[in-house]
Amino acid sequence: MLNQLSPYKQGMQIQEVKEKYQLSRIVKLASNENPYGFSPKVQETLEDMSKDFQLYPDGYAAQLRFALAEKLSVTPDQLVFGSGSDELVTLISRAFLGEGTNTVMATPTFPQYRHHSLIEDAFVKEIPTKQGAHDLDGMLKAIDEDTKVVWLCTPDNPTGTVISEAAFIRFMEQCPSHTVVVLDEAYVEFMDDELQFDMQRHIASYPNLIVLRTFSKIYGLAGFRVGYGISNESLATTLNIVRGPFNTTSLSQRIAVSALEDDQFIQETKEKNQQVRAVFEQFLEEIDWDYYPSQTNFVLVETPIDADVAAEYLLKHGFIVRSGNVLGYPFTLRITIGQEEDMAALSSVLKELDEDVKNGAVK
Ligand SMILES: *Cc1c(COP(=O)(O)O)cnc(C)c1O
Repeated sequence: MLNQLSPYKQGMQIQEVKEKYQLSRIVKLASNENPYGFSPKVQETLEDMSKDFQLYPDGYAAQLRFALAEKLSVTPDQLVFGSGSDELVTLISRAFLGEGTNTVMATPTFPQYRHHSLIEDAFVKEIPTKQGAHDLDGMLKAIDEDTKVVWLCTPDNPTGTVISEAAFIRFMEQCPSHTVVVLDEAYVEFMDDELQFDMQRHIASYPNLIVLRTFSKIYGLAGFRVGYGISNESLATTLNIVRGPFNTTSLSQRIAVSALEDDQFIQETKEKNQQVRAVFEQFLEEIDWDYYPSQTNFVLVETPIDADVAAEYLLKHGFIVRSGNVLGYPFTLRITIGQEEDMAALSSVLKELDEDVKNGAVK
C-alpha cells in the first residue's frame, strides 16, 4: 500500500522562487496562512520563554487544555491536542480504520483524510462534490456497517464552500452511531457568525462526532503545529490513548495559550479578510472570472487557461498560489487572501494575464 502513495508535495518555497526568477520580493498566497502574522501577545510570550527546554513538555497540556475548555464551554477531557490538526487526522485513522473497514469522504477535499485512511488499509469511498459542495445524501448512501469514519470539511478546502447547519443536522440524524463523523473546521473562525454551527450542542447530541480545529489558520501559528479535536469524553479518551505523550511542545502550548488571550487579533483578522476578499471577488467579476463562494481566507478561482500555466505566470511576477491541478479542480487556482496592497498588486497581474490570454500571447 505505501508504495502507491507519495510524500506530501509542497508548493514552491519563497527562497526557491526568489532564486529561480531573480525576484527580490515574493508574496506567498498558497497555503492559507494569516497575512497579518500573529498576535503581539504571542511575541511577548516568545521573548520571555528561553528557558527550561531540557524538560519534557506537559503531556496533558494542562494550561492550554483548561484555557481552551473554558473558551469553548466544554470539559477539559473533551479535548485532544495534536501537532496540527493534521496529526488528529492521523490519530483518528489509526484509532478507527484498518483492513476490512471503509471510510467515506468527499472528493476533492483535504487530501490527508485519504492519505491516512489508505495507510491504515481502509477502503476509501470518495463521493464527488457538486459545484464544490459535499454531496451529503451521496455520502450517507455510501455508509454501510463497515464504515468507521466519515470526513466532512466545512468550509471545504479547496473550494471554501460550507455545509449548512440544517443539512449537517439531517446528516447526523441519519448517520449510524457506529460511524465516527469528523467535522474539520480549520477555517471556522473566518465564517460569518450566523453560518457557524452550535458546536457544543452537536457534541452533546452526537456521541460519534469529533470537531477538528487548528491554531494554524486564523491564529497565524502554522509554524508551531497545534491543532485540537473536540468530542465527548469517551471519544477524546480513545484519541488520547493513541496519541504520543509529548506530541505538542512546551513552546507551542505556551504560545497557543497566549494566542487565546487575544480575541481582538482574531476579530481584526476576520474583518480585514472579509473586506479584502470582497474587493478581490469584485475584481474577479470585473474581469469575468468565475469563483466559488468562500467563507474562508482563500478563494478558488476558475482560470481561462491551464492552471499550471496561470500559476507559473503569477510566479514569474512574484506570487505563489496553488494550482487546482494538484487539488483535483483543474482549471482553477486556490488563492489565499493576502493583505490589501498585495491583493491589489496580484489583481493587476491577473488583469494582464487575462489580456494576454485574450490576445493569444498566453495559452
Ligand atoms: C490547513 C488545514 C488543516 C491542518 O492544519 P494544521 O496546520 O495541521 O493544523 C486541516 N484541515 C484543513 C481543511 C486545512 O485546510
